[in-house]
Amino acid sequence: MPARTPSLPAATGGALLPEGSEIVIIGGGVIGCAIAWQLTQRGKTDVTVIERRRLTEGTTWHAAGLVGQLRSTASLTGLMRASVQTYAALERLTGYATGWRPVGSVRVAASDGRWAELQRHAGVARSVGLEAHLISAGQARELFPLLSTDGVRGAVWVPSDGHADPSQLTHSFAAGARAGGARFAENCLVQAIEQDGRRVSALVTNHGRIHCDIAVNATGMWARQTGRLAGAGLAVGAVEHQYVVTEQIAGLPPTLPTCGIRTRGSISSLRPARCCSAAGKMAPGCPGPSRPHSSAPLYSRRTTSGSNNSARQPCAGSRRSRRAASAPGSTGRYRSRRTPSR
Ligand SMILES: Cc1cc2nc3c(=O)[nH]c(=O)nc-3n(C[C@H](O)[C@H](O)[C@H](O)COP(=O)(O)OP(=O)(O)OC[C@H]3O[C@@H](n4cnc5c(N)ncnc54)[C@H](O)[C@@H]3O)c2cc1C
Repeated sequence: MPARTPSLPAATGGALLPEGSEIVIIGGGVIGCAIAWQLTQRGKTDVTVIERRRLTEGTTWHAAGLVGQLRSTASLTGLMRASVQTYAALERLTGYATGWRPVGSVRVAASDGRWAELQRHAGVARSVGLEAHLISAGQARELFPLLSTDGVRGAVWVPSDGHADPSQLTHSFAAGARAGGARFAENCLVQAIEQDGRRVSALVTNHGRIHCDIAVNATGMWARQTGRLAGAGLAVGAVEHQYVVTEQIAGLPPTLPTCGIRTRGSISSLRPARCCSAAGKMAPGCPGPSRPHSSAPLYSRRTTSGSNNSARQPCAGSRRSRRAASAPGSTGRYRSRRTPSR
């Protein structure tokens, strides 16, 4: 492996782009930084993360930070359990806050199909030892008082779910990885991937070339474009995702759980944050840039298709959020996040 040289001063925020690194991770979002941390935990120290902007400035900073462990298969549920265990321990291990709050989650079913699905997921959870309780609409409302129980078939309560601060979490992973020997090059765009036969041999960036044995594509929704640099076709798509940040809603306990509601063609997620609430909508994406902002959402509601109708949502909080966003003079903000284009 070629010697490392300090070749990137100011442009990468002072980070050094070595001439070579055993493993190079492309993308400094939560996934890239988590991979770097996991690798250093396993004794791999020759690791470099390359981020074209600053850490978290892809999609990670947008996230509401909800962490739910219910999944359709035991392996995915096990993966989510491992994530929760990591979040719970990370601050102690790295010394950097993650904003992790294990407040629990209520997943609400507003259709027979979703109720059957949730019951299945709860069964899968219990089969791998994850505590998950099937509860009535009334019990769900006791846990999440903003919920309207109209049309609710039932819910699942997972006490160990919660929410984290996506930006803090990413920086905590990065700090732990750095302490373990990983390097970070920010403001550094990977423009080409060189190959030796079927193996990646080097990455070409706007700040020079870096040899590597292994390149990890952690570029999230840009993974398809990154894959193309190596001639690989990846089926990665992006969806539009909107949310509303509301004014503060008085009287909510700090331990309010997160709440997820899925109806036909829509997914709504709600969470408390520092001072306000949000609602969102997700639909097949279209290009458009977005920038980081400073306020975190309290509630977010998102919809996977364009057929969203908030009046059908059994969540008083999201309706209130939308009103707050549209009321004249309101400080509620309605934001649309779309697929950034290259
Ligand atoms: C509004 C919103 C709310 C969300 N809420 C939640 C939630 O509550 N819970 C949840 O689990 N998930 C949520 N998500 C999803 C979550 O944000 C993403 O799944 C996660 O952040 C993806 O992380 P990532 O590291 O894969 O991608 P990213 O954070 O996008 O990181 C990829 C990085 O790669 C970089 N990059 C791309 N191409 C190159 C290149 N050629 N060279 C160098 N760098 C490159 C980009 O700049 C970017 O920083 C939400 C998303 C949105 C938009």
